[in-house]
Amino acid sequence: MRELLFMNPVFKETIWGGDRLKKDYGYDIPSDHTGECWAISAHPNGTGTVASGTYAGWKLSELWDKHRELFGGIEGKEFPLLIKIIDAKADLSIQVHPDDAYAAVNENGSLGKTECWYILDCDPGADIIVGHNAKNHEEVEEMIRDGKWDEFIRVLPVHKGDFFQINPGTVHAIRTGTLILETQQSSDVTYRLYDYDRLQNGKPRELHIDKSIDVIKAPFVPVTADGEETKVGDATITKLVTCPFYSVYKTCVNGRATIKNDKPFVNVSILDGEGTVDGVAVKKGDHFIIPAGYGDYTLEGNMFIISSDVPR
Ligand code: ZN
Repeated sequence: MRELLFMNPVFKETIWGGDRLKKDYGYDIPSDHTGECWAISAHPNGTGTVASGTYAGWKLSELWDKHRELFGGIEGKEFPLLIKIIDAKADLSIQVHPDDAYAAVNENGSLGKTECWYILDCDPGADIIVGHNAKNHEEVEEMIRDGKWDEFIRVLPVHKGDFFQINPGTVHAIRTGTLILETQQSSDVTYRLYDYDRLQNGKPRELHIDKSIDVIKAPFVPVTADGEETKVGDATITKLVTCPFYSVYKTCVNGRATIKNDKPFVNVSILDGEGTVDGVAVKKGDHFIIPAGYGDYTLEGNMFIISSDVPR
């Protein structure tokens, strides 16, 4: 099909969210503590709908079930990825996600969660937690049970344009003043280790200490981003990562570029600027899927784009 599938996002209010999804992206958000825009999502906890065209009003999950040809006929009971913009006005909990095998057994057959972050913006001096300092699994358990958080967590300075791949079993937290484009497996399973003793509606949020200890890998081994760069017309395409679940690319176009495409489908987020895709106007804050069989596409304008695809 030669039609882009523009998506209506779903918004999530959170105790740590802010109002940048409105201020920076112009979205109609439910409150000034909106933490997440589920931009491309077929997850049951927040399924996006198609905004226009042949399939206007369809849920992405329905399209996946009934028109698998739009996604190259690839297998799987659910649309595999979830694309989010995250506005962390305050710290997110220190957390970890299971892999597919652990989630299948312990979380009702849910997918595990591999995720990655592109830092769209952050406050000066902002930091982030990726990994831990324990030497082995016994030390992981001891530091967590004793609440030795300062010793345990690995804190890194963060800058606009940084990229992090977060594999299952990696302790992590997005912290205050960070705006992120997240590409992840379509999963909502989070094990919270520590929530800074915060209260939500007068109560602390649930922690999942035993499951966290189960899934945390030790010692922590950092993952380096790919970073391979290609010039195509007036665009520079940087491959950020390839893992068994997705490949993620950053594209900066200033002019015109025809991008080769034979993927089952491509998730595209316009994160800055405006222009056209094969003559169709697009702007900052738009998210769409390029369906199977669409073929090559031509970008024109000044745009900053993050896109992702899945292995066939
Ligand atoms: Zn996470």
